[in-house]
Amino acid sequence: MPAPRVIYWFRTDLRLHDSPALKAAIDLEPECLYPIWSWDPHYLYRAPVGPNRWKFLLDCQNDLSASITKLNPRSKLFLIREAPQTLFPKLFNEWKITHLVFEKDTDAYGNDRDQNVIELAKKAGVDVVVKIGRTLYDPDQLVKENKGKPTMSISQVQAAGARIGQIPRPIPAPQSLPDPGNTDLSFHQERPLNDPDFNTAQRDGTDKSYEALAGPNNDFAVPTMEELGPKEATTPHRGGESIALKMLDEIISNEDYTATFEKPKTAPTAFGPQSTTLLSPHLHFGSLSCREFYWRVQDVVDKYKGKASEPPTSLTGQLLFRDMYFGAQASLGYLFGQTYKNPQCRFIPWHLPSEIDTKTGFITGKYSKDSDQAEEWFTRWKEGRTGFPWIDALMRQLKLEGWIHHLGRHAVACFLTRGGCYIHWERGAEVFEEWLIDHEAACNIGNWQWLSCTAFFSQYYRCYSPIAFPKKWDKAGDFVRKYVPELKNFDQKYIYEPANAPIADQKRWGCLIEGEGDGTSTSEGKLKLYPKPMFDFAERRDICIKGMKNAYSIGLYGDNPKVLDGSWREL
Ligand code: FAD
Repeated sequence: MPAPRVIYWFRTDLRLHDSPALKAAIDLEPECLYPIWSWDPHYLYRAPVGPNRWKFLLDCQNDLSASITKLNPRSKLFLIREAPQTLFPKLFNEWKITHLVFEKDTDAYGNDRDQNVIELAKKAGVDVVVKIGRTLYDPDQLVKENKGKPTMSISQVQAAGARIGQIPRPIPAPQSLPDPGNTDLSFHQERPLNDPDFNTAQRDGTDKSYEALAGPNNDFAVPTMEELGPKEATTPHRGGESIALKMLDEIISNEDYTATFEKPKTAPTAFGPQSTTLLSPHLHFGSLSCREFYWRVQDVVDKYKGKASEPPTSLTGQLLFRDMYFGAQASLGYLFGQTYKNPQCRFIPWHLPSEIDTKTGFITGKYSKDSDQAEEWFTRWKEGRTGFPWIDALMRQLKLEGWIHHLGRHAVACFLTRGGCYIHWERGAEVFEEWLIDHEAACNIGNWQWLSCTAFFSQYYRCYSPIAFPKKWDKAGDFVRKYVPELKNFDQKYIYEPANAPIADQKRWGCLIEGEGDGTSTSEGKLKLYPKPMFDFAERRDICIKGMKNAYSIGLYGDNPKVLDGSWREL
């Protein structure tokens, strides 16, 4: 038998520690091991990715590449700018590859792509090894142990998990790595990633003339932000396994914090530092292993002398939530990401409810996409100009930094959907997809469904007030002052309702509350402008609750024939 020649395909696992897939590749005792990242144009052109997430990814890639080189000075992360579906058959042939190894990805697109690549490998006579490492449990197994159904609650995850067995302990990082083989590419052609001449077929990899790229300098380097296009990152959060492990060490060294963590007690208004771990982007890119995180926490909890917190509010409970959404997504595939045809997702006729039609039980008005008012509210929500400082501060933090606290996400998601604007959750999820540095399809979609009470959670009568809720955490309004600096001089009495401040005070504090807050200043230029609230919150909340009540009583789901053919309108 000739010695194995292995491609290790990095994707959701930008780390060396606790990587069952990387261990499997090394255990093959290969003659050569190529650590590859295939730059899939799907993510450049199809999926909305904001500059902050790009930057985080590049940080992770640079850090990983340097760590690989530390273990073997002849190796590094080889970045190839081509879709895996067209790249791998060429590499199999060119580099005489015998094995392809990677971590399992159950995202809808990732799963399709991998099935395609596995078929291509089979045709080329290449063995494929796939290992679990992205979640605590294999999402497919979780579904199987949940009677073949999507996991929709933590107790289902716990019950299915108990049947699967103990979560595996993390495995150490390798001490050395095999050499890569010859990296010549006969099909190489120089072209930057942001080449404007790519047509759609080239972008999605179906046009075979899109040649493999080893980067502008033919050195397989990690791209720069410039290579990705004219995008400027503003996030202060940095990526990479080295940083992730340091952050984890710091958290774990605080035993009280680790053992007694209770999510509902963490302040969404805390910044510098935030009140939760901020490890989510590292879990997303795999620069931190979730099993490493889980067991480091569990070991502290097991030894803790006082009363430790428990799932679902504890830190390990948070990781179980993550697995729950992965299980739901694995079961439903592409349908998970939408209401249409989704049997788990309640159908709510999201639009602009101004009044309820008492005969039909539905809110009168048009579907949200047709409504000018809904569009205006959506834009103002997205741009942080709603006139509710708490909501605006959160949306501005999200855009600027790419991360907001979980309860902040609750607040803006509830406000956009069932607790204010009555706009479709899918539209909010799209904005999060673009701006979050931790965007994880399963978690984003699942949490939006939860918050909009379309799946997972149904207490639609409990809404977050954009005034009372933040006051509970941050009476002085420091969080608002940081992210909505126009209001920084306002007395705390008015910080969440600045429109109530007397005009003379508004002038004294340097900001007038008027108009729609498009970022301009008054004509004299001395005073800033901040918008009035775009609606009366209490009035809107009541209308939304009535709308939700009616929709629940009619009880349609995304796969109902009336939803599919649009006849719900005549109900
Ligand atoms: P911690 O509280 O420190 O929790 C530790 C880890 O547990 C997190 O890093 C995360 O991986 C996981 N976790 C915690 N809460 C949840 C949860 N509710 N659902 C799933 N995993 C959880 N999380 C994402 O990772 N990606 C997303 O795209 C995402 N979108 C969201 C959208 C909405 C509308 C809402 C309400 C929540 C979303 N979340 C998402 C879940 C949660 O808000 C973040 O995981 C969490 O705020 C990340 O901060 P942290 O690392 O400090 O969390």
